[in-house]
Amino acid sequence: MSAAATRPVVAIDGPGGVGKTTVSRGVARALGYQSLDTGAFYRAAALLVRLHRIDPEDEGAVLAVLAGADLDYRDGAMFVEGIDVSAAIRSETITAASSRLAPLPGLRMVLVNRQRAWVAARGDRAVVEGRDIGTVVFPDAAVKVYLDAPPGVRAHRRAGETSTTLREVATQLGKRDRLDSTRATSPLTAAKSAVAIDTSTLTADEVIGRVLELCRSRGVEPSGRPADGKDRAGD
Ligand code: C5P
Repeated sequence: MSAAATRPVVAIDGPGGVGKTTVSRGVARALGYQSLDTGAFYRAAALLVRLHRIDPEDEGAVLAVLAGADLDYRDGAMFVEGIDVSAAIRSETITAASSRLAPLPGLRMVLVNRQRAWVAARGDRAVVEGRDIGTVVFPDAAVKVYLDAPPGVRAHRRAGETSTTLREVATQLGKRDRLDSTRATSPLTAAKSAVAIDTSTLTADEVIGRVLELCRSRGVEPSGRPADGKDRAGD
């Protein structure tokens, strides 16, 4: 059986509040790779839809506004038309709107193409976090990780980052979990070959250490050192 060709992408999927961003950034720093938060694209799309007062269910209008939009992700920040919207896209309103918009297949296609182009422009040396990275965006990623933790643990962590009450955070996370895992297009699910890590009893550094160990075992080399060019196990 021949192994499918892979690229040195590290795919990190999982539900909200599980620690994807901290882990992705830590792994990227250690490898000298760039990290990409794909959720920021869905959030930026939700912000645009709101600013243009578009009906989020009108996919044609949503796609028209996206087609002309200048979206950019640099150094952990999201830019729309050159403006840093990183704080604006974290509001509760935009958070909820992003997961209501995310099921639109046409919108996903546009955003996935932009995410792939972003990674290709960095020579595939990227740690990419989201919901569908190992399954849809980079099914040929050399490393696929699925981070998970019980809803109560995730809500606790999120509540520590915002001024919202624990109960409200738990309700919102539950709604997003449901929307993200039950939608028809690219639902949140672990790729067949993803390594699952339960983060509930681990520190961020411990999770980062496990992912880096996995990278070593799959031949994903820190940048600066040439990749060995061998085929690696895929899905
Ligand atoms: O990761 P984050 O919580 O910022 O993502 C916001 C929303 O964007 C998610 O709830 C999900 O609906 C959507 N999303 C997605 N696919 C991704 C990343 C995010 O559908 N790869």
